[in-house]
Amino acid sequence: MTWCCLNGEMMPIEQAAISPMDRGFLFGDGVYEVMARVDGRIRAKSLHEARLRSSLDAIGLDISVTDVFSDVDRLIDKAGLLDAKIYVQVTRGAAAVRDHAFPAQISPTVFLTISEFKAVSQKPAKAIVRPDIRWRRNSIKSVSLLGNVLLLQEARENGAQEAVLYRDEFVTEASTSNVFVIRGQTLITPPLSDLILPGITRHLVIEMASTVGLNVIEEPVRVDSLGGADGVFVSSSTRGLMPIVELDPGGQVGDGRLTDAFLALQTAYDERLHHHE
Ligand code: PLP
Repeated sequence: MTWCCLNGEMMPIEQAAISPMDRGFLFGDGVYEVMARVDGRIRAKSLHEARLRSSLDAIGLDISVTDVFSDVDRLIDKAGLLDAKIYVQVTRGAAAVRDHAFPAQISPTVFLTISEFKAVSQKPAKAIVRPDIRWRRNSIKSVSLLGNVLLLQEARENGAQEAVLYRDEFVTEASTSNVFVIRGQTLITPPLSDLILPGITRHLVIEMASTVGLNVIEEPVRVDSLGGADGVFVSSSTRGLMPIVELDPGGQVGDGRLTDAFLALQTAYDERLHHHE
């Protein structure tokens, strides 16, 4: 049985029902988080809590993140999964009348799901490279994901696993992950801004890079520099560190092989998943 939690109530997922007037459904008016649970602990839980708080603040939704996370703990107990993927979705809730502006009286919808999942880094992959067609506030982890959906679909239709995105010739991020470039012993990643999600995995990679002798530079990355790098990889809670060995357009990255620097980082990252705070 797959358990979920809807507004504090645990139930089998088939029994969960949300109003068609929910603003998440009507307007994409909500935010979310996705977290990996490894060996019985949520990876980087406090960072996920902080990011959820910041997404909620950004859209003016005032609810207790502490309460949401105590529901997460109850859902985990119910499901009894040591290795899992947990989604937290919070929308502004259901209104009596459809109106773009926020209603005066409304209570948020909080929906949590959990499913079995092993957090391991994914295999070398191909990525399409496309203009970033999304809105300009991607630091908010919004449930309005149509741009990301269309871009990942285009990747799949082109035999690729990700879509690397750029705006004005510079890489922003990928459709479901952040982007890193490797040059020698240096990791380069676009700086945090409104244009990208502050990925938790990105944060952990930056924090641990020095343990494998890599230094990190956060600076704009020209999209036409990707193919000539020694390596490119994307990072996310669900993909881990996924190397990109082929770009479309762009062809092979570097000599098409994974560098020792990348392999050392990936091993250290996968290892750290089991010893995280
Ligand atoms: N960027 C986007 C657009 C994402 O959807 C995600 C993950 O869902 C990320 C980056 C990576 O974030 P995290 O490392 O917190 O999973």
